[in-house]
Amino acid sequence: QKPREIAAQILRRRRQGAVFVEELLEQAFAQSQLLPADRGLCQELVYGVIRWQAALDWLIARKTTSGREQKPALQDLLRLGLYQIFWLDRIPAHAAVHETVELAKRGDFRAQAGFVNAILRGYLREADATQQALAELKKTHPHIGWSHPAWLVSRWQKHWGAEKTAQLLEWNNTPPMTFARVNTLKTDAEKLLVQWRDENVEYDFVHRDWFEENLVFELKSHSPLARLPSFQQGLFYIQDPSTLFAVRELNPQPGETILDMCAAPGGKTTFIAQLMRNEGRIVACDVSAGRLKLVEENCARLGVTCVEQRAAGILPPEQTGTASGTLAARFDRVLIDAPCSNTGVMCRRVDLRWRIQPTEIERLRATQLCLLRRAATILKSGGTLIYSTCSLEPEENSEVVKQFLSEHAHFKLEHERELLPFTDNVDGAFVARLRKFS
Ligand code: SAM
Repeated sequence: QKPREIAAQILRRRRQGAVFVEELLEQAFAQSQLLPADRGLCQELVYGVIRWQAALDWLIARKTTSGREQKPALQDLLRLGLYQIFWLDRIPAHAAVHETVELAKRGDFRAQAGFVNAILRGYLREADATQQALAELKKTHPHIGWSHPAWLVSRWQKHWGAEKTAQLLEWNNTPPMTFARVNTLKTDAEKLLVQWRDENVEYDFVHRDWFEENLVFELKSHSPLARLPSFQQGLFYIQDPSTLFAVRELNPQPGETILDMCAAPGGKTTFIAQLMRNEGRIVACDVSAGRLKLVEENCARLGVTCVEQRAAGILPPEQTGTASGTLAARFDRVLIDAPCSNTGVMCRRVDLRWRIQPTEIERLRATQLCLLRRAATILKSGGTLIYSTCSLEPEENSEVVKQFLSEHAHFKLEHERELLPFTDNVDGAFVARLRKFS
């Protein structure tokens, strides 16, 4: 099967079910014999069509008399063709038209092949004017031009203004960089870089104010991670630099007892263990038993031995209380990396923008507050509580912290910081450091 055909199938399955498109791609690649270059094209087509869906649909609507959407699968084909013509440089436009028409004929759209051909060829004749119109659209109707839900764009514009919002929209539509954190429990940067050169891994140095030199590298090119010996040996963990900030603020020390309340898949847990030099005790909880398995796997791969995994709410009795039911506060530090709307990581979750609803933010707020209230009871007096999200929405960040503080006078906010794609060049993140005083 060819990459375009697989891309069309994935887009069809995406419409049918709740499975994430990243998983659909993984499944499709596991079942097909695509060459690496064809996999790359297939992924680029699927992600590109989803990212640019609103702009692609605008193009299609201009050329159809009713302006209405076609049958979903036909709409997908037109999106695929137009995406190749206007967003991909390396595919000759005529080849894109030909391949899309052939795809229509091979699929259920033999009768509509002429219609597909007419729309795409029409756009080939007006390519320059269309590029200009698309550029203009980014200024006049940014939600269409940058292809995001209108409500999200207007929310961000109110908060940051038009210019920064446009930068954020552009960031969300740019394929994300891959970063590796060196696992100092097993190696150091010098040794790892030597091994990467042998494994043909191309990398770059990464500097930010919240972590030391030679801890994080950007991976520019590499063979599939699962086949890379340095990955299998657990010499590094893939995570965005923004995720390290919460752990830095937690400042875990060797020998301490730490609670990571929302731990899966374990990016922060394993970094905490690294800073503790694997000495002490980390209790890693998560509501999802399936995802806790990932924590276990990551700990095993990285050689982390000081972590105990537990389903959420099930903390060991010595940590949660006495027979009389009063809670004993035993954790030196608690991290809540809360479930959130994920609006800071939209460049990595391509489908998210089309799934997220404004009401979701309110629902998440309630969970976030619950987690903070629970943490408050099991943190030692004098202990540090870190609240973090990868959301850009104040309702899930500073406002949650404010509400928590208004109910808990014995907690003080020591520091709060927001990392923003358009200023910090990393995924969005929010981190608040609180201290308990009695
Ligand atoms: N800290 C993780 C890391 O660095 O790899 C990422 C955590 S992710 C942002 C949020 C996690 O919270 C998800 O794994 C989700 O299953 C979990 N979660 C959601 N609701 C929860 C709850 N009520 N209690 C505990 N965990 C919860």
